[in-house]
Amino acid sequence: MKKIAVIGEILVEIMADTVGAGFTGLQPLTGPFPSGAPAIFVDQAARLGQPAGIVSAVGDDDFGRVNLDRLARDGVDISAVHVDPDRPTGSAFVRYRADGSRDFVFNIRHSACGQIAMTAGAEALLAGADHLHVMGSSLSSRGLVEMNLAAAEAVKARGGTLSFDPNLRKEMLRAPGMAEAMARFLSLTDLFLPSGAELTLLTEAQETDAAIQELLARGIAAVVHKNGAAGACYHDAARRVPVAGFAVDEVDPTGAGDCFGAAFTTLWLRGAPPDEAMTVAAAAGALAVTARGPMEGACDMGTIRRFIADAERDAR
Ligand code: ATP
Ligand code: MG
Repeated sequence: MKKIAVIGEILVEIMADTVGAGFTGLQPLTGPFPSGAPAIFVDQAARLGQPAGIVSAVGDDDFGRVNLDRLARDGVDISAVHVDPDRPTGSAFVRYRADGSRDFVFNIRHSACGQIAMTAGAEALLAGADHLHVMGSSLSSRGLVEMNLAAAEAVKARGGTLSFDPNLRKEMLRAPGMAEAMARFLSLTDLFLPSGAELTLLTEAQETDAAIQELLARGIAAVVHKNGAAGACYHDAARRVPVAGFAVDEVDPTGAGDCFGAAFTTLWLRGAPPDEAMTVAAAAGALAVTARGPMEGACDMGTIRRFIADAERDAR
């Protein structure tokens, strides 16, 4: 089976129990939950039985142990996670506002995962990878951009594949060299996984169909456009395969895109037809939002297949 690698942040997330603005007042919190977009991605892939590993760093503290224990339990290769004796594990405090927007207090840049560096473990993991998944949110420093680019070029040079989720803020594109780095990633991408307006973040075309044609014309094999509760749509040169969102009660939307992307990528690497990969991915995305905590909704294949069967029975 093909092995997936990611390079990026591992964090704990600590969530406010009440809806409201920010953290200036005393309030109840729940956490620490294991988190970090690339960590959620590899956790979901491993839960589906795909070999998957992460290059990252955590502190020598309980927040690091929470993450490493969860990733190891779920089958993720954590041999390339450096335990930094000098910096704490990254963290994000999050509180939802009534309109669905979020307030954050981040400790990432000065945390262990703000200093991810090439180690012997990282080199070994990347050398054994068949597929690299690149997360836009992880490209927060020059070092991380360069590590991801070098790994992308190496995996492609030996016949491997690349998926790219451009989940980055528009402002990040203005950082020096960032737009050029994004263009480079796009030129190496086999599977592009944007959500909503991210579709046109890196294209000249600003309209959906034209942007998809432009991306496919650049040599990307497949574009999967995610659209929250509405579902998602797969595009390649020959086909367009839409999938509706499964009806669920959304408890916590964080992590849906990562679970969807990991499930799609896993099935795509196994050669599944797009309609099957899209259904499994949409189910993984829907299940992700039913659990509180960014990684808590990652499910195994049995749970996903039962969820799909139940939804199909209810629809009849
Ligand atoms: P993230 O917040 O993790 O970055 P994203 O913006 O990348 O998410 P979304 O489009 O929000 O990705 O979600 C990915 C997929 O998960 C959707 O295309 C859909 O199939 C499924 N999904 C997300 N939210 C819901 C929901 N409320 N109900 C049902 N399915 C959902
Ligand atoms: Mg996203």
